[in-house]
Amino acid sequence: MSWRDAMCGDLRAEDAGRSVTVAGWADTRRDHGGLVFVDLRDHTGKLQLVINPEHSPAAAEIAHEIRNEFVLQAIGEVVARAPELVNPNLPTGQIEVQVDELRILSRSTPLPFQLDEENVDEALRLRYRWLDMRTERMQRNLRLNHTAITAIRRVMDEREFVDVWTPSMTRGTPEGARDFLTPVRLQPGKFYALAQSPQLFKQLCMVGGIDRYYQIATCWRDEDLRADRGFEFRQLDLEMAFVEREDVLDVTEACVVGAFEAAGVEPPVRPFPHLTYADAMLRYGSDKPDLRFGMEIQEATEVTRDSEFGVFKNAPCVRYVVVPRTFSRSEQARLEELAKEWGAKGLANLTHVSKFLSERELEAFGVEEGSTALFVADEEAVAAHVLGLLRLHLANELELIPAGLDVFHWVTDFPLFEVSEEFGGWTFMHHPFTAPVPGEEERVESDPDHVRGQHYDLIWNGWELGSGSIRIHDAEVQQAVFRVMGMGEEEQRDKFGFLLDALQMGAPPHGGFAMGIDRFIALLAREPDIRQVTAFPKVASGADPLSGAPTAYPDSALKELGIRLLDPQPE
Ligand code: ASP
Repeated sequence: MSWRDAMCGDLRAEDAGRSVTVAGWADTRRDHGGLVFVDLRDHTGKLQLVINPEHSPAAAEIAHEIRNEFVLQAIGEVVARAPELVNPNLPTGQIEVQVDELRILSRSTPLPFQLDEENVDEALRLRYRWLDMRTERMQRNLRLNHTAITAIRRVMDEREFVDVWTPSMTRGTPEGARDFLTPVRLQPGKFYALAQSPQLFKQLCMVGGIDRYYQIATCWRDEDLRADRGFEFRQLDLEMAFVEREDVLDVTEACVVGAFEAAGVEPPVRPFPHLTYADAMLRYGSDKPDLRFGMEIQEATEVTRDSEFGVFKNAPCVRYVVVPRTFSRSEQARLEELAKEWGAKGLANLTHVSKFLSERELEAFGVEEGSTALFVADEEAVAAHVLGLLRLHLANELELIPAGLDVFHWVTDFPLFEVSEEFGGWTFMHHPFTAPVPGEEERVESDPDHVRGQHYDLIWNGWELGSGSIRIHDAEVQQAVFRVMGMGEEEQRDKFGFLLDALQMGAPPHGGFAMGIDRFIALLAREPDIRQVTAFPKVASGADPLSGAPTAYPDSALKELGIRLLDPQPE
């Protein structure tokens, strides 16, 4: 006997008269005097079972024991419901199953929360994830994961990409985060790092003649957890030899569109628009701008050079945004507070400072009745940063972002280097393997401030979906980049000797990309964070409420790994 021969959600009026065996969870039970109704649920939907004591006294007896989330098997006949009992809200609402035989396959203790309860505390949902997974939301999201990834794999396969498995336990990979370390029993005192990405392995695949590599790769980065970030995450990781930037962008766009189509969502129009980094910073104050709304940042440095208003005249940079409404004094004060929290000295409202400004200035700003111009006068980076955040804040607050709009775009031409906040010297903007823009290689060491990298980011509605670049395939250029980052010959050999060797043994030109799959699915599912599309995520503290990990280990186990703790084990 099979456990079931029909799925709950599949039965329709045409099935009336069929004898079926169904199995699933008791969603609800309603006792109507003699008759008992049970909504039986599997992942395809809900089906009404009717248990009639006159028809089957044995089944009726069992039915009284049923509680929510018991696992049941029922055998019976599909019958049409009387017209007045049809439920138009349920796909199976025209029929029900008249139960002949009923079995309880598994029982459930009282539930910590009901499946149809709203706003269940997330820690509780994660602690009992197996229950939470039974909800429509989680079923939809986890299945969407599968649909999107299958579509992406199809695109990659059609384009002859080869799925190559690369190690998780490796040397530290410089992607800008801390490494997770794994001690090694056979070599006490030494550690593997969990791969922050397969970056160098995929480059070595190119040197190895694989030509087109991809992987749905798990990556580990020790960073603070946020809506779009977990300790471990998956990325569509790809690399191609003998390509230009446009080839990489083309494949990535095809994957995005393929996943949208498979999910039944209207895909974005290709090719996705491009924005240079310089433009993004100037107009939106961010390298991952949300382009679903305007409110672009305006430049006013030039026009305020001779201003009577000292705050403008003396600032290295003056910029503003025009907001389509006016603010009361207290609203303005609150915005000023926010601007200060973000690092500005203040936030000037044109209405309040116009008496200090010339006709020429006022004309240049051209602010209409009912709108407000808000200015930041500061260092360029501060003006960009603060106005970028203000733009996002006001768009959310004033609900200027149209619902259901998807805007994808590329940001290109990033600087190759930036100044490290940590140690003050030059560090990479993307990773140290990104090639300079052709023609700028010569200036890597002499003018690092102005060299641009062949680095591109993909942005969806203000979320950075992924990054990629054309790589350095010349050992000398690679060494020049290492030197700018303050790495001497010895350190270069020690950390990246294998890469430098490979680059000297016939490395083809190559480039690639990595797209955060979890971020992508969260946005595709219209969810606010990646935990909603992850089967077993961790909470913000980094803990796993389900298994209780991370856990302490006894000293004896640590000793074997050559580890002694500074602080005694917590009880
Ligand atoms: N390794 C990069 C990352 O993980 C992606 C790439 O450059 O292909 O962000």
